[in-house]
Amino acid sequence: MPKLKREDWYSIAQKVNWSFSYVDHEDVFPKEMVGESKVPLEAWEQWDEPYKMTYREYVEIQRDKDGGAYAVKSALSKAKITEKLGQGWNSILKAHYGAIAVNEYFASIGEARMARFGLDSAWRNTAVFGSLDEVRHGQMQLYFPHELVKEDIQYDWAHKAMHTEDWASIAARALFDDMFTGANALDMAIQLPYSFETGFTNLQFLGMAADAMNIGDYNFSSLISSIQTDESRHAQIGEATIQILMQHDKEKAQFLVDKMFWKAWRIFGLLTGASMDYYTPLEHRNMSFKEFMDEWIINQFMQNIEGIGLKKPWYWDQFIYEQDHASHALHLGVYFWRPTIWWNPPAGMSIEERHWLATKYPKWEEDYGRYWDVIIQNYQNGSVEKTLPQTLPVVCACDQLPICIPDVKSGKVEPRTSTYKGKKFHFCSDVCQWIFESEPDRFAGQQTIIDRFLGGVIQPPTLEGALAYMGLTPHDMGKDPENGAWALAYKNKNIAI
Ligand code: MN
Ligand code: MN
Repeated sequence: MPKLKREDWYSIAQKVNWSFSYVDHEDVFPKEMVGESKVPLEAWEQWDEPYKMTYREYVEIQRDKDGGAYAVKSALSKAKITEKLGQGWNSILKAHYGAIAVNEYFASIGEARMARFGLDSAWRNTAVFGSLDEVRHGQMQLYFPHELVKEDIQYDWAHKAMHTEDWASIAARALFDDMFTGANALDMAIQLPYSFETGFTNLQFLGMAADAMNIGDYNFSSLISSIQTDESRHAQIGEATIQILMQHDKEKAQFLVDKMFWKAWRIFGLLTGASMDYYTPLEHRNMSFKEFMDEWIINQFMQNIEGIGLKKPWYWDQFIYEQDHASHALHLGVYFWRPTIWWNPPAGMSIEERHWLATKYPKWEEDYGRYWDVIIQNYQNGSVEKTLPQTLPVVCACDQLPICIPDVKSGKVEPRTSTYKGKKFHFCSDVCQWIFESEPDRFAGQQTIIDRFLGGVIQPPTLEGALAYMGLTPHDMGKDPENGAWALAYKNKNIAI
């Protein structure tokens, strides 16, 4: 078969939109699947992906890249590196795999929706590669932790987490279902490849690959770097789509970006925030979460949105304020409710770590240190039961996360409420309330873990009943990896509490 050069045939094969003669356009592309906007149909023909790739190239490149990552894994599998990396790093891996691996597979469903219902052939074609990418990411991120299951049952949650009703799984699904699994092709193109992949994941994966390399986890580093290069290729779907949407329906573009940047931020604050500020061993911490956000997310995101003509989100003051709060408030909650998660959260509260926190976050002692002092006191008094929960956290009806981050205006945690069709909903912030009220029918049916508790779905209605409902057994539920030993060190070193 003669091998033509790509540039000799690519544009003819990539632009293959045609008019239907025997069926209506709307029957082939129903609005429920395509999405609705003010963009005229013919405008989508301008859709152009800057980075071109053919199927032949895709297969060649991906085969080599996956081969490289699997080769590193097989070379290291006898070295038991993960075991030697300590509980903090293992907790980062467990949280990451549980929240991400199966959702990568779900992302392939979203990409496949664009591959069928995107309104230009180049968009559909690029999304086919995106869908193949996400299938591979799901497979790899299930395969890598699989060999660790026999050493540590919590690694089973790489696969299990998304099949349970754990509150953290509910929160992750609330985000990803809205972002892609339950979104039409247009909304999804702005929400996943633009707001999430361009805004967060590329940078998150770059950061994690560097951290993994730094700490000596070459397995995870090679896996994550391989995934990241796919992500940056298919993330271009976002920019190509938003450029056209901006010309005809700026308001819709702004709404989708504002909504999804916020929701992604919340999960990011929980997972990456705690990882960077508390779980990563002190000697390997390069940056605080706030510094990382500032340098990699906030600056880059601002450049990106200003570059295409969007305004910064209306809640910017609250978002900036949360840089000093989200990781700390969420980590404190996760530590306290540790039996409800599938990893062992280190307190990250040695005296040296506490000094580090106070240097990076000047108001940390005042805002959060005082809560840790109570926990320390309880450990020192031998009242370990007081460091553990008796009830469930109150969660937000929009992001499904514990309501614990203060408001920029009052400096206090202030739940918001609204009533829709006779039911009362609680929110963590003005922003989550705004998202809910923008499309109440989209979100009102979603049951929080508290709704299920109060509605009698969780039986018996006790903390033990709730843990069983969430799929947790005494073997896999989260524990303090040091059993509170860190708290006793305070007394020995005469640190005033
Ligand atoms: Mn992916
Ligand atoms: Mn992706």
